[in-house]
Formats: sequence, structure tokens, C-alpha cells
Amino acid sequence: MAMIPIAKPMLDEREVEAVRRVVLSGWVTQGPEVATFENEFATFVGADHACAVSNCTTALHLALKVVGVGPGDEVVTVSHSFIATANAVRYCGAVPVFVDIEENGFNIDPDRIEAAITPKTKAILCVHQFGMPCDLEKIVAIGQKHSIPVVEDAACASGSEILWQGNWEKIGKPHGDVACFSFHPRKLLTTGDGGMLTTANADYDAKFRLWRQHGMSVTDAVRHGSKQVIFESYPELGYNYRMTDMQAAIGRVQLARLPDLIEARRRMAELYRKGLAEIPGVEAPGEPPWARTNWQSYCVRLAEGLDQLQVMQTLLDRGVSTRRGIMNSHREPAYADPSTHRVSGSLENSVAAQERCIVLPLFAQMTEADVATVLDELRQACRLPTRERPVAAAE
Ligand SMILES: *Cc1c(COP(=O)(O)O)cnc(C)c1O
Repeated sequence: MAMIPIAKPMLDEREVEAVRRVVLSGWVTQGPEVATFENEFATFVGADHACAVSNCTTALHLALKVVGVGPGDEVVTVSHSFIATANAVRYCGAVPVFVDIEENGFNIDPDRIEAAITPKTKAILCVHQFGMPCDLEKIVAIGQKHSIPVVEDAACASGSEILWQGNWEKIGKPHGDVACFSFHPRKLLTTGDGGMLTTANADYDAKFRLWRQHGMSVTDAVRHGSKQVIFESYPELGYNYRMTDMQAAIGRVQLARLPDLIEARRRMAELYRKGLAEIPGVEAPGEPPWARTNWQSYCVRLAEGLDQLQVMQTLLDRGVSTRRGIMNSHREPAYADPSTHRVSGSLENSVAAQERCIVLPLFAQMTEADVATVLDELRQACRLPTRERPVAAAE
């Protein structure tokens, strides 16, 4: 029985050839490929500036730092996200303040943000979960009203679009102050590991470039190209958050593939939506009229009577790989100490999404027959009577 995996990166000889070219060029980190990838990515999302870094977690760290988040500050965000979202706040010495997600979606509930704001709030960190754009119009308005910057965790949202003042625009223009992308293999566009910061603020972009390279005043490219001897200095504390040229070369090929990948995923998602309408107890994810998601993940909600673990195990036994809904940081041991975070209001929607949802396989190489198989197996798995829960294994 052939397994249907949860995801599959689209990589072939074109990426191999791109890396080969870089290796043989002799310039393997933060050189011309990184600069070109940044330009191409900025053009793609419509941003004034794009700065490549080692991954999205380091991008989030720099984005929060640049908008002024520091020790003792608070950042309003969600617990319902990959743990890197909240961890990045803690890297700044700040406290993530968790608010709940919407009842029928997976993004921050804008109507709960204001209650979480205090004089210590230095940023709103929203997440475009699974690639689905958040309600940025509402979130940005709240940020403006309180003079609080908005950082977008766009890790999953390469190529997703939002209707903004009557025009379709890419996530990452950005609509907040800074957007952060991930190029981990679980996302649509992969460089193995990698990240990107986009902003309209030239000063922010200059800071990102300083900080990603140890806080060094002169870049390698400038020193390399200079006819005069240059001594660099280190005006402030920096980091090594560089992207390599091998990664950037892969990223450029991947970026060129992205529109086709998204088209294929949106076709599969439409097949899922139609098929799920016929399966009682399983609810398809919705897409607001002002959003065009890249469907980085296709996450369905199970009705009360269905056991998440049992449905997932039955599907796995039948060759269909799934994942449970997104984790909640506040439920992890790393957040057990109350000083690590603050909770604003109830997080019941966040917890319910983790416990009642499952992510179905979705990748560009999937065939219509694969989708039909998943739907068929899901229909059967949901018909089973509830039995004893299997022993929970670590993820
Ligand atoms: C994947 C992901 C991250 C982390 O990205 P890395 O590139 O692995 O550091 C952060 N936030 C969200 C929402 C993610 O899905």
C-alpha cells in the first residue's frame, strides 16, 4: 500500500543545478545569490525591502527587536501557533500575552486584542496560520489606534493574498510594520532552512542587515569589492543569522515555481471542499471573501463525537498520513512557569482547535485520485464507533 504523506517539497534537478553553480562559483554565503533572491522576493510580494536570514524564528527575533520590544515588555499574540512565535518574544526578554483565536478559524480574534493591551504592550504579533491571511484590516487599525506596531508571522504565507483597500495584494508587502517568512521544508517555498524579513521601512531594513551579520559595519561584499583597505567596526550587538548562497539559489528556483504550486494546491483544496460536504462530522476550513490562501495546510474540524487520535490512527493504518491541529504554546512544559507568559481571557477556541482538528495531506504533486483516496478513507474512519484511545505518543 502506497503511503500518502502529509506534505512533499517540490525539488528536482533545477534546484540541484542552482546549487552546483553556486558551489563552483566559490562564493557560498551571503553573496550575490542572497542579494538577488532578496530582490526577487521583494518584487514578488510588492515590498520595498526584503532581507534574507537563517530561518523565520531569527526573522521574528529581529522584527520584534526592531520595533522596540525589549526586557519586561509585552507582545500580544496567540498561543495557538508553532512554538517559535512565542519563543521569539521571549528571546527579546519580553512576555507573550496570549489571546484566543476565532471560533471558526485558526487566526487571532481581532475582537479580543484590545482587552489584552496594557501600557507595557510594544507589539502585536499576528500569525497567518496555515497560510490563511489574518484579518489585517482590523488588526492594523487597532495597532494604529494604540500606536502599537504590528509584526506579521507570515511563516506559512508565501504567496497568500489579501484584498486590501479594493486590491489583491500579497502577504508581505507588508500591511503591518514587518512580515517574517519561513522557508522550512514544511512550507510551500523551501531552501532547507531559511527566512525573510520584508518591510517598507528603510531604517528597519538597515538594522536587519547589521544584526544578521554580527553587527558588523561593513558587509563582506563591500569589503571584497573595495580597492582600499577597510577596517570594519561593530557598533552594536549582532547575531549570526545569515542565509547561505546555496540556500538562496534554491530559493530563487522555488520562488519561480511558487505560482504554479499555489494553483495546484488551490485546485486540490477545492476538491477537498466539495468532497467534505458529503462527509458528516467533518468540517472543511473556510476562506473569507477577502483572502486567497496558499493552503499551506488543509486543516479540518471533527465533530464532537469523533475521536481525533482514533481517526488519525485509522487513517495512518490505511496509508494516509495526517497531523493534529496546531499546538498551543501555553500547554507545553517550556511555558509551565507562569512568568513565561500571560493569558488574556479564555483560550478555549485555541485548545479546541488543537484537540478537534486534523491536517490532511496536501502537496502539489498530489493527484485527484490521491484526494479521492484521502476522502474515502476519512469517510470510513469517521464511521467507526469510538473505541479506547490508543496510548498517546510524543510528537
Ligand atoms: C514554521 C513556523 C515558524 C518557524 O519557522 P522556521 O523557519 O522553522 O524558524 C514560525 N511560525 C510559524 C507560524 C510557523 O509555521
